[in-house]
Order: sequence, then C-alpha cells, then structure tokens
Amino acid sequence: MAFEGLADRLQGTMQKIRGKGKVNEADVKEMMREVRLALLEADVNFKVVKDFVKRVSERAVGQEVLKSLTPGQQVIKVVKEELTELMGGEQSKIAVSTRPPTVIMMVGLQGAGKTTTTGKLANLLRKKYNRKPLLVAADIYRPAAIKQLETLGKQINMPVFSLGDQVSPVEIAKQAIVKAKEEHHDYVLIDTAGRLHIDENLMDELKDIKELTKPDEIFLVVDAMTGQDAVNVAQSFNEQLGLTGVVLTKLDGDTRGGAALSIRSVTNTPIKFVGMGEKMDALEAFHPERMASRILGMGDVLTLIEKAQMNVDEDKAKELEKKMRTASFTFDDFLEQLGQVRNMGPLDDLLKMLPGANKIKGMDNLSIDEKQIGHVEAIIRSMTLQEKEHPEVINSGRKKRIAKGSGRSIQEVNRLLKQFEDMKKMMKQFTNMPKGKKKGFKLP
Ligand code: GDP
Repeated sequence: MAFEGLADRLQGTMQKIRGKGKVNEADVKEMMREVRLALLEADVNFKVVKDFVKRVSERAVGQEVLKSLTPGQQVIKVVKEELTELMGGEQSKIAVSTRPPTVIMMVGLQGAGKTTTTGKLANLLRKKYNRKPLLVAADIYRPAAIKQLETLGKQINMPVFSLGDQVSPVEIAKQAIVKAKEEHHDYVLIDTAGRLHIDENLMDELKDIKELTKPDEIFLVVDAMTGQDAVNVAQSFNEQLGLTGVVLTKLDGDTRGGAALSIRSVTNTPIKFVGMGEKMDALEAFHPERMASRILGMGDVLTLIEKAQMNVDEDKAKELEKKMRTASFTFDDFLEQLGQVRNMGPLDDLLKMLPGANKIKGMDNLSIDEKQIGHVEAIIRSMTLQEKEHPEVINSGRKKRIAKGSGRSIQEVNRLLKQFEDMKKMMKQFTNMPKGKKKGFKLP
C-alpha cells in the first residue's frame, strides 16, 4: 500500500492529540516535532518539511484552534488541510482541446513506467470519460518499446500508430495527428523516447516534438519509489520543457511518499495521475484531499465508490437489480458479481480505503484469502444449469458430485448453498420493503 510507513507514524502522532480536552502550545510543539521527523523519514524534501511545519504550527496555535471545544481534532483538521495543500489542493483536470484531437506528450526516463502509463491513460480516458484516444509509438530507441505499446494496445483493444524505428519521432508524431484527425480520435497520446539519464539529445528531441505538435499536455512519468530523485527529474524536465502535469507511478509499492509530497511544492507542477499497479486499470486521477485522508487513516470512500462504478456494467447492473426484485437471482448471477468485484483490484487494497481500516486489529497485515473466492467459483462452475437456476434440486447425491467436480468438500458446498439461500431471503425482504426506503440503493 502507498505511504504505509508515513501513515503509521503520522497516525500515531495524531492519535495522541486527538482526544485531548485541552491543548497548549507545548503540545503542538511536541506533535510538530514528531510530524517533522515522520516527514523527513518519508524522504520529503527538507525545505518542504520546514515550510509545512511552520504553517501548521502557526495555524494550530492560533486562537480559533486551541480555544475550540475540540482542540485535538481541530489540530488534526489543520494537518489534513495543509497536507492537501502540499499536494496541490484541488484535483487538477485534464485538458480538452477545443480543436480536437487533444495532444498529450508522455515523457520520462526509462523504466519509470511511461509506456505502461500511456496504455493505462488511454484505457482510463475511454472507460471513465468516454473518449477515443490514439496511441502513438514514438520511442524508437528502447528495444521493444514499440512492440510493448502495440501489445498493450491489443490488450485494451485500442489502435496504436507506429512507423517502425527508422522514422524520426517528430515525423511519427506529425503523421499520427493527421491520422487521428482523419479517424476522429479526440485524444492523441504520444509515447516519446526515454533515456537512462537526462541528456541534451533527449531534451532536443522532445522540444522538437513539442514545437511541432503544440501539445495540450506534457505529462512527466516518474517512479514514486525513487523519492527525491523523482523530484529532481521533475525539476529538470519542467525547466527545459515546461510540464503541465506529473504522473507518479508505482505508488502501490511506495511506503514513504516523499516524491508525492514534495513534487508539487518544489516544481509547482501538479500530480495529475498515480499508478497503483501493473495492470491496465491501475491508474487513478490524483485527488490531494483523498490522498491526505488516506495518509491520516481517514479512508477514501469516494475512490472506492468510483472504482465500483467503473467496473460495473450499467446494463448488467440494471438487469441484476430486476432479478433481485423478482427474486430470480441465480448462481450464474452470483458468479458474475464475484467477477466484477475481482475486477476492482486486490480485495485487501480495497479494504484499506475504508476509514479506520488500518486501526482494526490485525488489519495491517491482513491479506484476504482470494483463494476462497476461487473455491466458490469452482463450486458454482461444477453445477448444472438446472442446479444453478433451481438450487433446491441439489440433493445429497448431487452435492457429492459437485464437491468432487470442484475439488472442494461437501461441507463447503453446503455452506455456499446456505449462504445463497440466506442471500435470497434477504433480497425478498428487501423487495417487500415500502417503496420510499429503497431509494438510493445502488448495486455494489
Ligand atoms: P518505460 O521505460 O518508462 O516505458 O517503462 P515501462 O512502461 O516499460 O515500465 C517499467 C516497469 O514498471 C514495468 O515492469 C511496468 O509493469 C512497471 N510499472 C509501471 N507502472 C507501475 C505501477 O504503477 N505500479 C507497479 N507496481 N509497477 C508499474
């Protein structure tokens, strides 16, 4: 999970001050000393830490906080607001050109995740914003970069424009935009070449592409796990190229958070997206406030809801709701639901977005047994169509066969049948509720 180390330390510190009926300047000073250490340990830029501590201290010892009825909570509120501010305040938007296509240049050093992120961004633009992007393979130097983008394109079923590695990136970009106009693509995502280090040739080439394509966005892709190096890379790229945003990748493995907390302040460039895994749907819009909330253990329910909405097919959800209403929900529907939940990502990551989840005993090293879900799926798949639709026909002979077919025990088959029965009962109760109470119900 992102920011585990920092979150643990900050939450420990906040815990101490939360319940205090009275807070004085010395308390604030002590707390800020711990916050300062926690941030430095998280590899946050030292000047950023210094400014942050100064701002929070000033506000926290201010009249309205210490004299309030809940000073402890007020101090935490100040910390949260300033953390949010540190990461950019408001969520920043992605450009939409009035004269399509909107051109986005993806830049970055090798290995940062640029090609992967280009694919993820195209996927997100289509899934969440209903756009029709064209991917452009302009990294002609890294062996296999073009192939990699083409493979990703196939995986997400999206077109990739390429002219091989013998044509200059500028020419590739130029022809890609012509093609995008012809085929009515509203976004063009150019995967430019990376290098191991920043060098003049690279910058010159990027400047040429910028000059020619007049991009609406220039996104720098950096690896969050490289901490202050990422911040330095962002600073150089910004000085030379003028970035419009940063995509921070590998946040899923970044326990510290130094880059995430420093980039905005040091480079004055907003973080627009964060990479949370290797899969094509592991890219999230960056919301400073939600991130601050996660760091302070207050959960991130909004992101959880959005994930659910993105992964649930609306037509299927409607159909399912009807089935629930008429109590004709079958094991096949159940299987489908399980699949959709799985699509949302690892279950333990989802759980961690619930407020206070990391405070529940044992939750910090909890890992949900995803195998269990696999077992349930195996049992259902061993049923005949008739059994799936009318589980009441499943007698002991059939149970034995299902258990054998799925490699599970009869007890497990029994348990699943019982759970399914209970679920249907609940649905019936729900269906019988007065109309008004059903309002606002959404399928998970
Ligand atoms: P490029 O050289 O910058 O184009 O880098 P690639 O796109 O080839 O990515 C390098 C490696 O980082 C690949 O193995 C990716 O799967 C991995 N990667 C990219 N983004 C993420 C992320 O957000 N989380 C994790 N865990 N891995 C990522």
